[in-house]
Amino acid sequence: MSIEVLLINPPIPEKHPGLLVPPLGIAYLGSALREQGIETRIIDAPALNLDVCAVAEQVKQLKPQIVGITTTTPLANSAFALAKEIRPLTRWLILGGAHASAVGQKIFEQCPVIDFGFQGEAEEQFPALVKMLISGESNPACPGLILRDFSQEPVLISELNKIPFPAWELLPMSQYRHPLSPGRKVATIMSSRGCPYQCIFCDQSVCGTRFRARSPENVVEEIEQLYRNWDVRTIIFYDDLFTLKPERVIEICKLIVSRGLKIKWKCEGRVNLVNSEMLFWMKRAGCEMIAYGIESAHQKSLDWLNKGVTLDQVQDAVKLTRKAGIKVLGYFIFGIPIETYEEELDTIDFAIRLKLDYVQFASLSPFPGSRLYEIAIKQGWYREGKALGPEEYGESRPLLITDYWTEEKLSQILKQAHRRFYLRPGYIIRSGLRIRGLINLVKSGLRLIRWLLKSG
Ligand code: SF4
Repeated sequence: MSIEVLLINPPIPEKHPGLLVPPLGIAYLGSALREQGIETRIIDAPALNLDVCAVAEQVKQLKPQIVGITTTTPLANSAFALAKEIRPLTRWLILGGAHASAVGQKIFEQCPVIDFGFQGEAEEQFPALVKMLISGESNPACPGLILRDFSQEPVLISELNKIPFPAWELLPMSQYRHPLSPGRKVATIMSSRGCPYQCIFCDQSVCGTRFRARSPENVVEEIEQLYRNWDVRTIIFYDDLFTLKPERVIEICKLIVSRGLKIKWKCEGRVNLVNSEMLFWMKRAGCEMIAYGIESAHQKSLDWLNKGVTLDQVQDAVKLTRKAGIKVLGYFIFGIPIETYEEELDTIDFAIRLKLDYVQFASLSPFPGSRLYEIAIKQGWYREGKALGPEEYGESRPLLITDYWTEEKLSQILKQAHRRFYLRPGYIIRSGLRIRGLINLVKSGLRLIRWLLKSG
């Protein structure tokens, strides 16, 4: 057997992750390639529980002419190890995704065995590159292509409605799961791309700062196909900023209701972009949870992070969301260089006072491609290490280490935050009142305790 293109989502260090969702980027790319008549397969290594050797074994059998590996920064080392292993097994080896988009030509220093890197949105340009390679073109050129000595600027796709729906048929759809929706089939959707805000820790190298949206009909058509053809009942919106245009969100919700799609879903919101009418329709259409980047209890820190929101907006948004019957997940950041340990204890108190349903506490990470990365490099704060929180424990992660915020201090505040938030009697009782909450609490509690013990 021999195929033209094989797209790979590289292995992850954790054997049984609680959260496992379809790799949307290569699923979109798979359908764009197939639409051009290019024979394509996908290996989603995390979903199939494959390690580097097992993936290489499959590559050997499929004999692809071109292999495209996608990677984020936390999984970059896994992608590099895989690239090295399969180098002799294919004619062309290409690395793309968020990490390649963020580091550009540096990708060749990090992974010298590849032939090309690819940056930015790939659905329009990658199929063109594949055609050039298959037809024997020795000097291919197209927007987004990264060569050792030259790279071409990527082009953002303007007409998102024209991109075919992801190639779900190339993925092991029954394997995906979300810890908050046990027993239900899960899929991810991007209803829009890009975000006009400029938080300093955010890497916007792939989708950029120009907001582009699919029509509500196009979005709900995809949901309906997932619902009817794949029995998907939980949808995670992977938009950079789903709630940027409330009137558009309301239209999507009304269509979900009118088509009788009994789904549950989660999205990312922004505390300055919520209103009661939008929340009402979101709840009616099955929205279970909104995640807000709250980050800190201190306005000076929100300003330093260039969040463009106020603490009053945080409190109002959380209150309105809970009043609408939607759960709130709050993201918080520790190790902000202008904060002291005591000030970060205030952030833990703030998270508790807000009565959030879930929190994610993480250390501030200077991801390549973000403004914070440039600051960290300039100040000598950039380190490569392992993720310090329980959600991504063991994955690589850029760390921001200052004279004050040492790795030990960061681990200490993160552990203190998790203990104080999740192991409160009031929180345990409240979650335990709902049977599903109890099951999840036990599962995530065990995971949390494992992490607390493991990290000393
Ligand atoms: S963190 Fe969210 S709101 Fe901020 S720039 Fe990134 S996508 Fe936009």
